[in-house]
Amino acid sequence: VRLTITDAVLDGERVGLRCVDGTIEAIGPEVAAQPGDETIDAGGALLSPPLVNGHTHAAMTLFRGSGGDLPLMPWLQERIWPVEAKLEADDVYWGTRLACAEMIRSGTTRFWDMYWQLEQTARAVADAGLRATIGEPLMDVNGDEAVMREAALASLDRLGAPGPRIGPALAPHAIYTVTENSLRWIAELAAERQVPVHIHLSETSQEVQDCVAAHGERPAAYLDRLGLLTERTLLAHGVWLDPAELDLIAERGTTVVTNPAANMKLAVGAVFPYPAAREAGVAVGLGTDGAGSNDSLDLLADLKLFALAQKHAAADPTAIAAEDAWAVATGARAPLLGAAAAPLRPGADADFLLLRGDDSNLAIGELASNLVYAAAGAVVDTTVVAGRVLMRGGELPELEEIVARARERARRLGL
Ligand SMILES: [Zn+2]
Repeated sequence: VRLTITDAVLDGERVGLRCVDGTIEAIGPEVAAQPGDETIDAGGALLSPPLVNGHTHAAMTLFRGSGGDLPLMPWLQERIWPVEAKLEADDVYWGTRLACAEMIRSGTTRFWDMYWQLEQTARAVADAGLRATIGEPLMDVNGDEAVMREAALASLDRLGAPGPRIGPALAPHAIYTVTENSLRWIAELAAERQVPVHIHLSETSQEVQDCVAAHGERPAAYLDRLGLLTERTLLAHGVWLDPAELDLIAERGTTVVTNPAANMKLAVGAVFPYPAAREAGVAVGLGTDGAGSNDSLDLLADLKLFALAQKHAAADPTAIAAEDAWAVATGARAPLLGAAAAPLRPGADADFLLLRGDDSNLAIGELASNLVYAAAGAVVDTTVVAGRVLMRGGELPELEEIVARARERARRLGL
């Protein structure tokens, strides 16, 4: 499969880009289409690396707009868990397709997901054409560790061998829903199978207090003692990490994904200490969290919240530069997330966006600043993954059907 983009703008220069079999073969002013290529005339649109959403529960788009003003526990106990108990395969599939549609439309091409029936998530990601690392939430219910272990092994089997676009993760839900024994067991399994671990950590101060009371140490030190703080581990949230934990996380090469919109909506009361994390050398990514607690998967919108929250919390407008925030959102500051180390170069995966350079929010001023503070997903014109055009001219071919089917599934669940 060969695709050539002509007349795109990169760093102020008109360039062409040619993709062969999912990889960028050439990029530069002299690159032109060859006979038989699929071609796109970008018409001066801006060529950009795509965004990486480091923490999602994709199928929770079905729960959007439901109970959003409740405190966390009533929200989970009254609105989420009773409905999740009734989920069918097609609920997860169409909820995830809706999430994927939103991500394609707002420039995200890769995400890290934690949700039930992961083979349905995988099917939706495959059909949508995106990339994802997928794990099923692992919890010890009623203290029966054998049940969780069986579920963990079964989830890896059901997802099968990693492919070029979809890979497995082990996703222990949190340190307060999985026992110490089980966490240690998961660490061993992850090491043996060489799969990443995706876990919520240090989201609320209560979680930290409970951890110190139960184990005599803070959450990052606790995970480290259990063998779970490695370069294959992704920690979602990290709001309450202290300086010693950040040093330890940096030393272990572990990634933290901050989810500013979800943290603010659930009112956790603090902001992930990004300047301290950067100073310590922690790998950092950006996530939306699930639509149940955010409710949007537009990472460009959350990028603005991320930068604003950091500046506001530090009482310092220089706390984070626009280029720095943009690098976090594209996965450039966290190799584990899987973005190309050098995107938009020959040999890299053919994953990229065309942005409307003449959009009112991008036309004037510095691009990085506009992308962080002025733009939202609507500036994305074209989304390409592995050399395949998923959206062109802002038109997603199956959008109407996806919305209708997801709405049908949400109604069936009484949402
Ligand atoms: Zn989450």
